[in-house]
Amino acid sequence: MAIERTFSIIKPDAVANNVIGGVTAKLEAAGLRVLASKMVRLTETQAKAFYAVHKERPFYGDLVKFMTEGPVVVQVLEGEGAVAKNRQVMGATNPEKADAGTIRKEFATNIERNAVHGSDAPETAKEEIAFFFSTAELASLARS
Ligand code: GDP
Repeated sequence: MAIERTFSIIKPDAVANNVIGGVTAKLEAAGLRVLASKMVRLTETQAKAFYAVHKERPFYGDLVKFMTEGPVVVQVLEGEGAVAKNRQVMGATNPEKADAGTIRKEFATNIERNAVHGSDAPETAKEEIAFFFSTAELASLARS
C-alpha cells in the first residue's frame, strides 16, 4: 500500500481532558507519523465551513458549538494507507460501537464528543489539510 497523508483533529473534549498525548501515542503506535501539528481555536465561520457537508443534519448547530468551545490540535499524518489506518485507530463515530483499543473507545464521551476527526478519503484529506496548512508551511516542516 502506498504512503499517504491524512488529516486529524484532536477535538475540544480530548484537549480539555488532557489526552493530546494519549491520542497521539495511539496514532504513532499504529505506524502514523505526525508531519505537522498545531493548536488552534476554530472560529464559528471555520467550523461551519469545515463541517459544511453536514449542514442539513439535525446535529450541525451542536457540532459547530462543540468544535468552537475550546482549542483543538490539527495534524497532518503520514503512513502506509494513512487514511484507512487512521479511521481504524479512531474507531466508530459512536464510542459505544467502537472496538476495544481504539481512540474513541478509550477517550470519547458520546457520539458528538468523540475525541477525534479523521479524513474519510484521500481527496478529502487533501482538502482538509489545505484548509489548515499552507503549502509553504508544510514545506518548511519537511525533514532533511
Ligand atoms: P466521523 O467521520 O466518524 O467523524 O463521523 P461523521 O462525519 O458522520 O460526523 C462528523 C461528526 O459529527 C462526528 O465525529 C460527531 O462529532 C458528530 N456527529 C455525528 N453523528 C452525530 C449525531 O448523531 N449526533 C450528534 N450530536 N453529533 C453527531
